[in-house]
Amino acid sequence: MLDANAQSYDYDLFVIGAGSGGVRSARVAAQTGAKVAIAEEDRYGGTCVIRGCVPKKLMVFASEYANTIADAQAYGWEASIGAFNWPQFQTKLHAELDRLEGVYQSVLKNNGVTSYNSRASLVDAHTVTLADGRQVTAKTILLAMGGRPIKPAITGSEFAITSNELFHLENLPKRLLIIGGGYIASEFSCVLNGMGVAVTQYYRGKQILRGFDDETRQHVASEMQANGVNLKLGMNAESLEKVNGQIKVHATDGQDYLFDQVMFATGRRPNTDDMGLEDIGITLGKKNEVVVDEFSQTVIPSVYAVGDVTNRANLTPVAIREGMAFVNTVFNNIPTKPDHELIPTAVFTQPEIGTVGISEEEASKLGKIDIYATSFKPMQSAFAGRDDKVLMKLIVCQKTDRVLGCHIVAPGAGEMIQLASIAVKMGATKADFNRTVAVHPTMSEEAVTMTKPVRSYP
Ligand code: NDP
Repeated sequence: MLDANAQSYDYDLFVIGAGSGGVRSARVAAQTGAKVAIAEEDRYGGTCVIRGCVPKKLMVFASEYANTIADAQAYGWEASIGAFNWPQFQTKLHAELDRLEGVYQSVLKNNGVTSYNSRASLVDAHTVTLADGRQVTAKTILLAMGGRPIKPAITGSEFAITSNELFHLENLPKRLLIIGGGYIASEFSCVLNGMGVAVTQYYRGKQILRGFDDETRQHVASEMQANGVNLKLGMNAESLEKVNGQIKVHATDGQDYLFDQVMFATGRRPNTDDMGLEDIGITLGKKNEVVVDEFSQTVIPSVYAVGDVTNRANLTPVAIREGMAFVNTVFNNIPTKPDHELIPTAVFTQPEIGTVGISEEEASKLGKIDIYATSFKPMQSAFAGRDDKVLMKLIVCQKTDRVLGCHIVAPGAGEMIQLASIAVKMGATKADFNRTVAVHPTMSEEAVTMTKPVRSYP
């Protein structure tokens, strides 16, 4: 029987933003038989593919070859390395990003999703307007506009770049200042240092990577400094000035310093400006994020939001999970909350951090806790004469014996933590780790061979 009250819309779902969260949601919703459209004002793939994870990780690989060749010599190879050819790498990098963007576009097309290469904003709970003035209606609208880097409002900040522009520099600077102490600042300091740039990093606080386990932060910071990053803690830029093609930075220590390029990595802001969100009653939070409930639904029942625009955990795999949960809830009639507990993450500094669960500092406030930790020189780099050190650390609840946190600083820590996090997510105990046979000789075997706590709380 026809429902006399049923309204007809142009689409079942209209997605705004073709990044990781938006594309996954559009594709999976279309696979349920829904009529889906997506709007993207810039490039398909969003931050992760075009100006984030993917180009960054390729730059991490590029930056590691100088050490690899040096190690090869130590292992008996006749090998030498010349200068790093940034334009050559950059051409290949952008060709790869073009290829990936094409893959994203075809995924949408092959699943019957209509793409609008346009900005879209909201008119009402079921209507969006495109840049050319056309209006399109949908039963459900998904906001997946992501975020963008922000610069602090200091004099001369226009002379500095952000991570967005870094991938497009014609030449690498000789002397680069990176301001910030988060993921982006710390990763790019290491990458550019590895590419031969003289990198200085200012962080305004006491130690970089606030929020991570303190011992882990300390370990990475010392390794970064040992590798040549000029890390200045408790330091910030007060103003920037362009002088003879260079940038003069007036720093909080009262001194002026000259750099060829300055990059701010001082956080990101959700893309919610001029979207008509507040006009239709959608609530924005303190950081301009779209406020959603546990099902990613806004206060307007037909409008949902996933990914960085909601500023929950700003990570690609989390945006994808949020998108999948949204499709389950709305198109498969299976109400699903995205799970934000125990999200493993990696910071691609050199050495890398892989981490899941809580830090020693958080755990120490929770009750009786044992800390197992070991730091050692791994076989491969020690043989090559390098002083690099690895950190393996487990946070264990005395009462339940559960592993509440696992923190690794090591080459390949991102790969290691993915697997360790399965055990932690399953609720593995220290006894489970202990009864797992070590894989020898590896670095990660230390995760199952630590027998005595190094510290206990309280
Ligand atoms: P973060 O929010 O992680 O870090 C911002 C940094 O800038 C902090 O150190 C902050 O200091 C500092 N800062 C903020 N304002 C100022 C200011 N006015 N002057 C000086 N310093 C300032 O942002 P990022 O841009 O590094 O990264 C954004 C998000 O992107 C991350 O949180 C992460 O979710 C995601 N990401 C994930 C990656 C991965 O998975 N490997 C890689 C890159 C990004 P303070 O600590 O004092 O606040």
